[in-house]
Amino acid sequence: MVEIPLWYALLLFVILGSCIGSFYNVVIYRMPRGLSLLKPPSFCPTCKKSIPLYHNLPVVGWLFLRGKSACCKTPISIQYPLVESLCGVLAGLALLMANYPWNWTHSIVNWADSLALFWLLLAIVPISAVDFQFHLIPDSMSIGGIVVGILLSFIPGGITPFASFYGMILAGGGLFLLGFVASKVFKKEAMGFGDVKLMAGYGALMGLMGAAETLFFAAILGLLVMVPLRFIRKKVDNPEFAPGEIPFGPFLALAAPIVYQWGDLFLTTYLGFFGIVS
Ligand SMILES: [Zn+2]
Repeated sequence: MVEIPLWYALLLFVILGSCIGSFYNVVIYRMPRGLSLLKPPSFCPTCKKSIPLYHNLPVVGWLFLRGKSACCKTPISIQYPLVESLCGVLAGLALLMANYPWNWTHSIVNWADSLALFWLLLAIVPISAVDFQFHLIPDSMSIGGIVVGILLSFIPGGITPFASFYGMILAGGGLFLLGFVASKVFKKEAMGFGDVKLMAGYGALMGLMGAAETLFFAAILGLLVMVPLRFIRKKVDNPEFAPGEIPFGPFLALAAPIVYQWGDLFLTTYLGFFGIVS
């Protein structure tokens, strides 16, 4: 595709990532308040004056203003530059993971992996933020993942469009069936439809095997967090730590990029244990 040296691509990825972080800040502020994401343009929550573009630059704007709004000197939450820098770092990480070993003066080797990891790593932030607060996974992230996965499968270097398509159907359908059976066995709603759509997206992005490994890995991560929490809860008897209240989406979101990058390695090591693959 395009000939951009890796160091320059890294700069572009980090800037693009922090801009997406800036947009996430808008979503995090406006979504719970039922406000439109596009209209009106950025305004000061205190005095309602509109904010000029150059004060809105990710991280730089906050540093330039020293954390206080230009219009009325209201302190601006540190959450804004933090989310922006986190997203910048995640975007840079995506590029570096996909193009290892690094050859700084050569162009990007793998566009398919770079873009897929970019999507997967940046999706962790809104999926976690929204799922923890509202116990739902935004369609823009789950259905968005399906669309991105199918589009990226047409770029050479990743999975084929066919693998992407049946990965989506089988991963989504499989989790739906699993949830259906579990709800009959335990007589309790086991899984939200948001998780099913999210899994369909992972199937589209990394095929059925990758999606299955993501589910498995997310369950392990979930156990590692929930078992100690259950223990703490018993000790202090604090209802705020109710383990049933912890959503599954953030664990899926965290597991996905790890499996995308190292899933095959885990699988061969694991199977190697049993002498299936040498
Ligand atoms: Zn103001």
